[in-house]
Amino acid sequence: MSKHDQLHRFLFQDDAVRGELVSVNETYKKILDQHDYPSAVNLLLGELLVATSLLTATLKFEDDITIQIQGDGPVKMLVINGNNHQQMRGVARIEGSVTAQSSLKQMVGQGYMVITITPTNGERYQGVVALEGNTIAECLDDYFKQSEQLQTRLFIHSGEINGEPAAGGILLQVLPSAGIESQHQFDHLVQLTATIKGEELFTLEPKEILHRLYHEEDVTLYDPQLVAFHCSCSKKRCENILLSLSDEDIEHILHERGEIDIECEFCRAVYLFNKQDIEELKRIKKQQIH
Ligand SMILES: [Zn+2]
Repeated sequence: MSKHDQLHRFLFQDDAVRGELVSVNETYKKILDQHDYPSAVNLLLGELLVATSLLTATLKFEDDITIQIQGDGPVKMLVINGNNHQQMRGVARIEGSVTAQSSLKQMVGQGYMVITITPTNGERYQGVVALEGNTIAECLDDYFKQSEQLQTRLFIHSGEINGEPAAGGILLQVLPSAGIESQHQFDHLVQLTATIKGEELFTLEPKEILHRLYHEEDVTLYDPQLVAFHCSCSKKRCENILLSLSDEDIEHILHERGEIDIECEFCRAVYLFNKQDIEELKRIKKQQIH
């Protein structure tokens, strides 16, 4: 019954426009399973997950991408992190009350969206846009307009199907080779795509979705890429956090609890360090400095 999460790329043969279609129900459920957020925050995380997956598929190299929302409202931070293998994780930080009816503005307040792309080799890219749209997709539309990249539109839905979390979306992007005459066609495709309903995205096969939306167009659908929940945390990565603490703080925690535990906020994995571990870490660090 439950099919794996997949991202499909597709191409309009006549129009110099490409597309992506993604469903992330399983990944979305796994991200939510680690936490107990209000329902409106769950929906927002779903939208952000779909957005990140769609943007990740526009990356060309070995890259890591993070889309983060920050503001002065009760939802202090909302973040989805993914990579070019479509491995995704996410977390929200909430201080204050959020109701089921809370809008994006009511949850985040005055805020902005930060998109960070970190290539394995090469320079980090960071883009920022003020959070003025009513949805994540609208905010990203603003981002693409302002950053003078290829014309891009996103269509995102998150919700539930049969009582389980469900999310999906579509991205349309003009190809670099497209001429000015393709603008009309792009606008036409945007109108068609905007008619997609959440339930269609959550339940239908990609072929059927494309047929429903674009039956008069010549569309090529490519092989899918799997999308999955994956957390890249490790004991090794926690060592750097430990080494950034002062000796005094470390002594204090060790004295009180006997060991130091560091919990990953994405997947809730707990990494334990005892006095011996920490002395060994410091010894290695000292050697590296000298
Ligand atoms: Zn983790």
